[in-house]
Amino acid sequence: MTFSLKGKTYIVMGVANKRSIAWGVARSLHNAGAQLIFTYGKERTEKSVRELAATLEGAEPLILQCDVTQDESIAQCFQTIKEQYGVIHGIAHSVAFANREELDGEFVDTSREGFLLAHNISSYSLTAVAKAAQDMMTEGGSIVTMTYLGGERVLPNYNIMGVAKASLEASVRYLASSLGKHNIRVNAISAGPIRTLSAKGIRDFNTILKKIEEEAPLRRTTTPEEVGDTALFLFSELSRGITGENIHVDSGYHILG
Ligand code: NDP
Repeated sequence: MTFSLKGKTYIVMGVANKRSIAWGVARSLHNAGAQLIFTYGKERTEKSVRELAATLEGAEPLILQCDVTQDESIAQCFQTIKEQYGVIHGIAHSVAFANREELDGEFVDTSREGFLLAHNISSYSLTAVAKAAQDMMTEGGSIVTMTYLGGERVLPNYNIMGVAKASLEASVRYLASSLGKHNIRVNAISAGPIRTLSAKGIRDFNTILKKIEEEAPLRRTTTPEEVGDTALFLFSELSRGITGENIHVDSGYHILG
């Protein structure tokens, strides 16, 4: 058993720019020899994904729009992938969104609309793409999503996203149970805080990063490369006995009380 993913094809969802966690995952997979397919949400993200993908040596990956709030967009994206590849071996789901104003103030003030939006994009989308990809994973598969400690504990300023992450983590377990008979594994990585575009929406993010540096067992913040290498493990045969799991890649911060 090795980490080599030569001859295997993975969909990477959620590269917005070079700081995106999904870009860390893409580089780890590319270095292990995997064929990549990228999907983006907003039209304005396409250029940035194309520029980044062009930096991957020797690869000319397929790049498609997949707005996870639109069933049509998901269907069209996965139909194109099916026509061009037939078989895929996994998906990196690195997609989330909540209204900025819902990430501040009191959780009790969360609106119905904000609650549903956060759950739609950040949680339901995992089930929607797992369903769309299921019949393409005929050689078995591995689906990996990104979560955060705020789904397990109440953390300041995470509010509705914490509740959506709890739903995402439960979805990982139910999907693992649902898809296991097809040899499709579903796992989450609970990443420590990383300065990305999405993280900009979280108030006092610098204070959170400083706390990790001072208190986490490894005394350093998490990098997208660390998350990418754990994703590589979860995509590889080395993790073939693991499903429904949530692996913390957070310098050990979650073990603190
Ligand atoms: P990014 O902003 O780089 O990535 C978020 C991605 O979500 C973007 O590529 C965005 O694409 C995509 N997205 C949002 N809405 C949609 C939609 N409707 N359809 C398709 N894609 C959509 O931030 P991160 O890399 O930080 O976030 C990636 C994941 O990691 C998220 O699940 C996040 O919660 C999680 N995470 C982040 C941590 C951190 O500290 N940064 C810590 C732990 C987990 P577009 O802009 O094109 O819509």
